[in-house]
Amino acid sequence: MEEHLLEVRNLKKYFKTGKHHVVKAVDDVSFYVSKGETLGIVGESGCGKTTCGRTCMGIYSPTEGEVLYKGMSVGSLQRKERQRFTKEVQMIFQDPYSSLDPRMKVGDIIAEGMLAHHMAGDSSQCTEKVKKLLADVGLSGGHTDRYVHEFSGGQRQRIGIARALAVEPELIVCDEPISALDVSVQAQIVNLLMKLQADRGLTYMFIAHDLSMVKYISDRTAVMYHGKIVETAPSDLLYENPLHPYTKALLSAVPIPDPIVEAKKRRISLRGELTGSADTGIGCRFRQRCEKEMGICAKEEPMLQEVEKGHFAACHLYKEGSASESPACGRYDMEGGNAD
Ligand code: SF4
Repeated sequence: MEEHLLEVRNLKKYFKTGKHHVVKAVDDVSFYVSKGETLGIVGESGCGKTTCGRTCMGIYSPTEGEVLYKGMSVGSLQRKERQRFTKEVQMIFQDPYSSLDPRMKVGDIIAEGMLAHHMAGDSSQCTEKVKKLLADVGLSGGHTDRYVHEFSGGQRQRIGIARALAVEPELIVCDEPISALDVSVQAQIVNLLMKLQADRGLTYMFIAHDLSMVKYISDRTAVMYHGKIVETAPSDLLYENPLHPYTKALLSAVPIPDPIVEAKKRRISLRGELTGSADTGIGCRFRQRCEKEMGICAKEEPMLQEVEKGHFAACHLYKEGSASESPACGRYDMEGGNAD
């Protein structure tokens, strides 16, 4: 049986932003990450994916629900277990410009975690470990005495990766690790992460809004919209046969390298933007932007259900066990002008 390194059960994370206003950044999501796999979490900015990652890391406390790491609730870890958790679960941040201390030398940044967890050895062993880590991420061992401002964006992200690897983690939450980088550098960083995973047996939660990169790196993908997971499946299946109208729209915006296929492709434009809180009233929270909205969508919130093996979607177009749009649900709302 596959081992779930991380399990998230009915997780909610709400932020109070005023006397009567609450932002439901994560609103009842459940998923797991198995040992050695990469789970991609995708969605537009503001969909809750970063908050979800940070709550899994223990940076935020859940409003409701729980996060289990190796079967233990992250919220109630005892001191020793918490120390082990903070060593074994690391994060790579979105912005390599602000996530590294500009006053520290690169060698000290990388050694900091090893020292905190008593893994550095003596001074010369620590230096050797730092140089080896720099080499592992494609940088020179001679860079230890430099400051981060002396490096390019891609090199800084490599330093961030070396810092995470220094404490020999098992799970790394990669929070948009490539979105601040030039396109030419993005593939290099993704390839590096994949190589490190193969070499070290790492497990990744890879948070991104770029679907093409997520497809490349992830074994399974979960699509988030307004604090909810609206579709999840093995990545090949999700990209070949997206079901949820939101996933379809996101994928239709991904450029295809073949210009003939690209020219023929139907691009689905989403109405409006993802703004504000998840409180869209009763019903599907995507309905204001959905080209397939129908009567039931305003009345009932669709639940995530397994429509084919391993493929889950939260949309009234589908019934449990059927990945075809259900004729029974095909009452398109002509009055709303959203008929397909
Ligand atoms: Fe669109 Fe209705 Fe499905 Fe929501 S439930 S995605 S509004 S068809």
